[in-house]
Amino acid sequence: MKIYKFGGASVKNADAVKNMTAISQMGGPHLLIIVSAMGKSTNALEEIHNGWRLKLPLSEKLDALYQFHHAIAQELNLNDECFWIEKWNQLIQHLEKDAMGTFDCTYDQIIPFGEILSTAIIHDYWNAIGYRHHWLDATKLIHTDQRHREARVNWEETKKRIENLSKDRVYITQGFIGSTDHQNWTTLGREGSDYSASIFANCLAAESVTIWKDVAGMLSADPKLHPDAALIPLVSYGEAIELAYYGASVIHPKTIQPLQPTGIPLHIKSFVSPNEKGTSIGQFSVEEYPTCIIEKDNQILASISTNDYSFIVEDNLQEIFSAANDRGIKIQMMENGARSFSMCLQCEEHKLLDMQEALKGKYNLRYNTPVKLVTLRHYKAEDLKQWESGTVLMEQKNRTTARFVIQNH
Ligand code: ASP
Ligand code: MG
Repeated sequence: MKIYKFGGASVKNADAVKNMTAISQMGGPHLLIIVSAMGKSTNALEEIHNGWRLKLPLSEKLDALYQFHHAIAQELNLNDECFWIEKWNQLIQHLEKDAMGTFDCTYDQIIPFGEILSTAIIHDYWNAIGYRHHWLDATKLIHTDQRHREARVNWEETKKRIENLSKDRVYITQGFIGSTDHQNWTTLGREGSDYSASIFANCLAAESVTIWKDVAGMLSADPKLHPDAALIPLVSYGEAIELAYYGASVIHPKTIQPLQPTGIPLHIKSFVSPNEKGTSIGQFSVEEYPTCIIEKDNQILASISTNDYSFIVEDNLQEIFSAANDRGIKIQMMENGARSFSMCLQCEEHKLLDMQEALKGKYNLRYNTPVKLVTLRHYKAEDLKQWESGTVLMEQKNRTTARFVIQNH
């Protein structure tokens, strides 16, 4: 069994759906296809969810989301008595009720509709053209804990549900979503569909996973910023984890972990040129990698010091880490000194303000945003010059990796 994963860009309009259909049809009869929400509809649903929580009128935003999907369905010649309309109506029914529960919990009851609608439209289309397949509801298969918006997989239960799927079929299902014991929907973190692909791959002992992207494979830098970025044909699991950890956006950071123990290879290929080789990630030993540059904008540099001039020691760090962890604040890079502890963060500013408030009695938290975090893997001495000449606010280097926090201008 092979696993294919198509992200939002590969289903953003009717032509894209036709293209991913052709690629899937070439994938043979033993295939499980994971699909994300179409285009930017996850962002649109986030806005709808925010409005719903605040009891704002939703009709304009809902209309736009409906029209977006409807236009794709029409171009695919689907009529209005389709499965996707049934799913659309479910979303509307949900929004007619009041939002009950925490923000993160209600988020998870609405945002998955992006993936559900997307796979429902493709299901309708494949039925219409006679491409034999089965539609699966991923919320019934991926079993998670209750940590909404960043749910963790219950592997034992998920495996039980997935491993018995017949391997002789073509399936289509959603990325990014799961559910808890109580049939509460959950999500695995933004851009989490890649992770879903490797969860299914692990549970099915799949032969391979292919992530179809709008780029040629894994590149040494963002080609929009660095036109000379090179394709990296082979990447070891270890290196892929490092690159994803530092923010290489080509795959979700959690994707490798379920594949590595059983050696399932991960291919990253272009849906525009599906016959090109792209990048393969697996049990390879690669002698030399090019310098890889990963740039992350809109980061926060926060600095915490004690109010009473005492040192920052282990128990202070424990308090700071749990304050960050409780709020889902992700620490990208950190540095400690005698009285202060600095960290480069990626989070919404309100979460940091909340943490500032919680630590107030004992600590003074100041921050600077937006800053840029640059990571260079496998750097050569000459690669550093460009970055060292900027306003460097924090830096760290070891033999393979150099990192700079730079003032954004
Ligand atoms: N649709 C979700 C998102 O945009 C999940 C994904 O695309 O992987 O974050
Ligand atoms: Mg997406």
